[in-house]
Amino acid sequence: MSSEEPEIVRELREEERSGRLRVHDEGGVDDVVVEDADESWSVGCVPTGGGKKPVNLGDPVVLYQTIFENSAVAITLTDENERLIRWNPYAERLLGRGRDDLWMLPVKSLYPAEEWAKIRFQNVRQRGITHHLETRMVRKNGECFDVDLSLSMLKDQVGNVIGSIGIVKDISASKSLEKALRRSEETFKQLYEKAPVLYHTLSPRGEITNINEQWSRVMGYPKEEVLGKYIFDFIEFSERDAAVRSFESKIASKQQFSQPTERMYKTRSGEERIFLIRDFLVFDENDAVLSIQTTMVDVTERKMMEKSLLERRDELEQVVAERTAELLQKNVRLHEEAVEHEQIETALELTLSHLKESQDKIQEQNRQLRKLDELKTNFLNVASHELRTPLASIKGFAQIMHERMIGEISDEQERGLTVVLRNVERLDRLIQDILDISRLESGTMQYKPEPVTVSDLLTEAVNIVKPLTGHRKVTIHADDCHTLQPLIIDKGRIVQVLVNLLNNAVKFSPNQSTISVRTRLQGDQVLFEVEDQGRGIPADNLEKIFETFFQVDQGLDRKFGGTGLGLSIARGIVDAHGGRIWAESTPGAGSILRFTLPVISQIEQSHSQQKEIKITSHR
Ligand code: ADP
Repeated sequence: MSSEEPEIVRELREEERSGRLRVHDEGGVDDVVVEDADESWSVGCVPTGGGKKPVNLGDPVVLYQTIFENSAVAITLTDENERLIRWNPYAERLLGRGRDDLWMLPVKSLYPAEEWAKIRFQNVRQRGITHHLETRMVRKNGECFDVDLSLSMLKDQVGNVIGSIGIVKDISASKSLEKALRRSEETFKQLYEKAPVLYHTLSPRGEITNINEQWSRVMGYPKEEVLGKYIFDFIEFSERDAAVRSFESKIASKQQFSQPTERMYKTRSGEERIFLIRDFLVFDENDAVLSIQTTMVDVTERKMMEKSLLERRDELEQVVAERTAELLQKNVRLHEEAVEHEQIETALELTLSHLKESQDKIQEQNRQLRKLDELKTNFLNVASHELRTPLASIKGFAQIMHERMIGEISDEQERGLTVVLRNVERLDRLIQDILDISRLESGTMQYKPEPVTVSDLLTEAVNIVKPLTGHRKVTIHADDCHTLQPLIIDKGRIVQVLVNLLNNAVKFSPNQSTISVRTRLQGDQVLFEVEDQGRGIPADNLEKIFETFFQVDQGLDRKFGGTGLGLSIARGIVDAHGGRIWAESTPGAGSILRFTLPVISQIEQSHSQQKEIKITSHR
């Protein structure tokens, strides 16, 4: 073929050479199997009839026409007015247009307006050369698609343009692949740049080839300042050697992923931050490491928190250990205390059982004592009565004799009878006292309450005592309180009390001294006072003198006689009246014995109640 051959012819030759056309060589005849060839499908096609039939490819026209018809690229021919006059079947499929649509169609309408403008701008027609460009075409339904377009001008012998041949390849698939790739690249770039973690890319030598925005922000370096620098320069000094070794071993291992490691980096401001590093090795087609993609997650705060949590845990463990030790100590102490308590309890139980035994013994003794007491009281009652009966007859006969009622007696007999009568009197007095004590103790003392004036009481008592005072020249001065209202009392018993106090006062008074008796009303009580100027009573005996048989002077050297029963009986009687009796004294200067009586005494109610009177033996 000559150089004037149309471009399409040259391209078809090329197709043949590349083997893309299926050629059958049978019996020395070059045949091409034309599939679905149909005279009717395009203007200017070789009329080959329907079905498959052998075509003589020895004829170059037939050959190229066959190629033309079977080409997998669209081939179009235009006339000098740029209207379509020929095309192959593939062109119809690609352009989505039928024969009637294409025949004499201005080629311009196959392109979107802006693409046609571009083609026009390149002025292919004028330049008259084969032109190759990527553009877009439009189908009948308006759908646009990407194409690779080769345009060749057809000229006559004198160089006039008589038409053009266009060869159109559908590149929409590769274009959309390209776009998808671009989009994915862009997405990746965005992810890389905008990711909230730090990204850097390293060369296999450890030089930084890229960092993302977060890296720049956290580490404080602008991108241009770090590119080309060694990553190790940003690692905290003490970890640098370890980081280099780890990096080298990762490169040597050729493992795409490696275990995440923690590294401490130093930011531009000198701050130390801990990152969790994950490396991803990228290899070239020869398996050599091309780059290392690294993500760095800032775990500084988490690490600090972990550290403080660990410290806190240690502290807590310490506290727990201390508390446990304390508790153990306390436990030991409690155990010891429990043992001690148990011992005390046992001792207490023992003591209690001893006490119980003692109590039982005491109760038994008390019971026996009460029995003895009863026996004693009974004995005293019986004995006193039995003693008083013969004493009464002794007294009676002695008095009859003393008063010479049965005949004259000599002076000596009279003196003797006087002594007998005095001692009978003393004995009777003693027996009466014992009987009184016995009655008081047993609660059988009888009282006869009656209205009595204080004045009567005093007169009677003083008259009884007066005979004892004469030879001693002791004066009794009674403060006669006539204004007092009568008391409801047992007159005889209260006179007995007063006589007892006056007897003691006379007994313990020095010669020629005065005994004062005073009375006064205190609320609903009358106070009686008997004051002497005698030797007094020691302070520690002021209470004891009211006990049965108690005497200040004890033993054989006592000078004053007496039985120690008088005050005991006095207290029993006063108590029975609802009063109170007590003593005051200035030893060496005198004593005051006082008692009170309610104006209306309680003896009606109380006289039968048993009064506890202590019976003690002081001799
Ligand atoms: P007694 O028969 O011994 O007088 P009392 O019961 O009347 O018995 O008195 C008990 C004791 O109280 C007396 O023995 C005496 O020691 C003492 N006493 C009583 N009154 C006086 C007093 N006025 N002065 C000094 N001592 C007194």
